[in-house]
Amino acid sequence: MQEVKTDLLIIGAGPGGLSAALYARRAGLDFEIVEKKMAGGQIINTASVENYPGFKDDISGYELAQNLLGHCKRFDIEVREYFAVNSIESVNTRKKDKSYHFKCPGDEKLIWTNSVIMATGASPDRLNVEGESGLIGKGISFCATCDGALYRDREVAVVGGGDTAIDEAIFLTKFAKKVYIIHRRNELRAVEILKDRVLKNKKIEFLWNSVVEKFIGKNKLEEILIRNKKENKTYKLKVDGVFEYIGWKPNSELVKDLVELDEKNFIITNFKMETSLPGIFAVGDVRNTPLRQVITAVADGAIAAIYVDRFLSA
Ligand SMILES: Cc1cc2nc3c(=O)[nH]c(=O)nc-3n(C[C@H](O)[C@H](O)[C@H](O)COP(=O)(O)OP(=O)(O)OC[C@H]3O[C@@H](n4cnc5c(N)ncnc54)[C@H](O)[C@@H]3O)c2cc1C
Repeated sequence: MQEVKTDLLIIGAGPGGLSAALYARRAGLDFEIVEKKMAGGQIINTASVENYPGFKDDISGYELAQNLLGHCKRFDIEVREYFAVNSIESVNTRKKDKSYHFKCPGDEKLIWTNSVIMATGASPDRLNVEGESGLIGKGISFCATCDGALYRDREVAVVGGGDTAIDEAIFLTKFAKKVYIIHRRNELRAVEILKDRVLKNKKIEFLWNSVVEKFIGKNKLEEILIRNKKENKTYKLKVDGVFEYIGWKPNSELVKDLVELDEKNFIITNFKMETSLPGIFAVGDVRNTPLRQVITAVADGAIAAIYVDRFLSA
């Protein structure tokens, strides 16, 4: 297996990882940045980003990611795409010693590094109800931007009540003739501007106090079995597609035995983005941050690179 040695390994090329790479390059660090899929991170899944400062006109998530990548290329940063780090082993925590502290095997290469920035983001939670696993990709989706256009003039449902659920439900009204929002509470958690927009949208109907009990369909989704918790009644809703936006799971498995995690498995860091193990830093959606957005991920990436530099030169 080919071996690579570096001072810093950045795992994940979403906004957090790419920003860390930019700041690491400008600090003159020797580093590698790897990405298990296409570079850009989760944001490539959204049709429009309206809240990233400096972009007053709508920009798509894909375009924003391309801008970030273009900025990295300008500083000769090459992302190793389709390279998944499979584990991280702490081999030597003695500092000052030139040997490498972490052994990080990927599919075909082994990376030895003195420090790691975990920029691995988060993945969508599933409802884990009957019928779900067999119908993913056959009517059940986690990405309105990717699959929304398939439901032109059809009826779809969104499950969830947070910002992303509401944002994507509004986006789906561009295509679908009707969008149900299935929400387990009787009020929304979303920010005011979104609440106002969604409540005024005539194509959207809320199913409050409701939970999905089962997805029904042979080769494609046909119906959802819904329970109204307040009335304790179940009924079937005919829809062509359903989009789940119920939360996110942090991609923190690589370090679960090395660093402290919170009760939901997000990585705990201090303001320097340091984890409980010296040499491992975490940024963006994978850490226990109060806000999971592009702006916070890129800010974290910048801070982490600065403190990695201090860690390496201490
Ligand atoms: C539909 C949708 C709409 C959104 N809209 C907005 C918005 O309008 N405005 C906004 O600010 N934010 C928005 N967000 C949130 C924003 O996308 C995230 O907060 C941001 O992308 C987090 O960046 P990150 O770098 O921490 O993680 P991510 O973007 O999740 O990137 C992590 C990367 O790490 C890679 N990775 C994971 N594990 C490994 C491994 N073992 N080896 C190698 N690579 C690995 C993943 O493939 C991924 O590319 C949206 C998110 C979604 C899903």
